[in-house]
Amino acid sequence: MAELRGTTGLGEAPRNSWAEWDIKIREVVVLERRQLTPKMVRLTLGGPDMDGFESHIADEHCKLVFPDADTGETRAPVQDGARLAWPSPFPTCRDYTIRRYDAVAGEIDIDFVVHAGGVASEWAQSCEIGSTVWLAGPRPAMVVPPEFGFLVLLGDETALPAIGRWLSEMPADARGVVAVEIDGPAEEQELPVPAGVTLTWLHRDGAAPGSTTLLGDFASSIELPSDVHSYVWAGGEAISLKPVRQWARSTGHTKHQSDITGYWRRGVTQEELEKPSLLDRVVHRVEHTVAHLLGREH
Ligand SMILES: Cc1cc2nc3c(=O)[nH]c(=O)nc-3n(C[C@H](O)[C@H](O)[C@H](O)COP(=O)(O)OP(=O)(O)OC[C@H]3O[C@@H](n4cnc5c(N)ncnc54)[C@H](O)[C@@H]3O)c2cc1C
Repeated sequence: MAELRGTTGLGEAPRNSWAEWDIKIREVVVLERRQLTPKMVRLTLGGPDMDGFESHIADEHCKLVFPDADTGETRAPVQDGARLAWPSPFPTCRDYTIRRYDAVAGEIDIDFVVHAGGVASEWAQSCEIGSTVWLAGPRPAMVVPPEFGFLVLLGDETALPAIGRWLSEMPADARGVVAVEIDGPAEEQELPVPAGVTLTWLHRDGAAPGSTTLLGDFASSIELPSDVHSYVWAGGEAISLKPVRQWARSTGHTKHQSDITGYWRRGVTQEELEKPSLLDRVVHRVEHTVAHLLGREH
């Protein structure tokens, strides 16, 4: 493994790991809508189905299930033990981060970036207070052990819910560098930033979301510390994260010391992004058959 830049002598780098918990399906009620900034809408969701809801990790996300465009029918998955059984073809779903969880009130906040032409974006702006939506998850997320003494958090506005929650849950002595690409000053949010962390807003200044090199340029200017191991987390438009991933790998952050996820792709809906290729389908079929033969299917 490449050595983390400047960390010679620190010993083997810590590793992230997947959390484990059951995935649930619930029908939740829209309780409140707030326009946080011109392009960010916050919905508070709750209701009786929130019983037993758990939320542990800053960037954990759930799927919202929407009606199919052609039939208007919502085909939610059904509970199957600790997992969900999804209908086929896969229903219309969109991934969103749990921005805030209030266990006492049994409520969550989800922050939606508002943009042209999206099922979820339009729903967030127009859904009636008191109406319901199916919420699957949250899915287990990646645990970042505290042995990482320095966090690098990078993203566009779709990653702001995760970054905002991460900042609000960090210990006071946390160290790190945070940068968020947004449209302009009006999209900045008031966030708690520990003294050892810097937060930089990268303004697109009129450029289209997902069309700039701001995040990659910022990443390559980061000075990593030499006294602790660092962890890189990034979320945002898939193509604009490529240079961030290259920078992370070039500084020795393997997938065990980083988590860099394309949250959306310019000009492509989430269905199109997730549509399995022929190769994926063949691999899935082979895995399914092998698991069946080995009696490991569940
Ligand atoms: C793990 C994970 C967590 C996420 N958390 C959040 C979150 O908390 N908040 C959030 O807002 N998003 C979040 N996203 C991103 C969100 O799922 C996508 O942006 C999604 O495509 C939005 O769905 P839609 O129905 O509005 O648009 P789609 O129907 O999927 O897309 C329609 C068109 O809009 C474009 N588009 C999609 N998103 C954007 C955007 N943000 N800006 C400009 N154009 C866009 C597409 O390229 C396409 O051309 C997350 C994604 C992942 C994978």
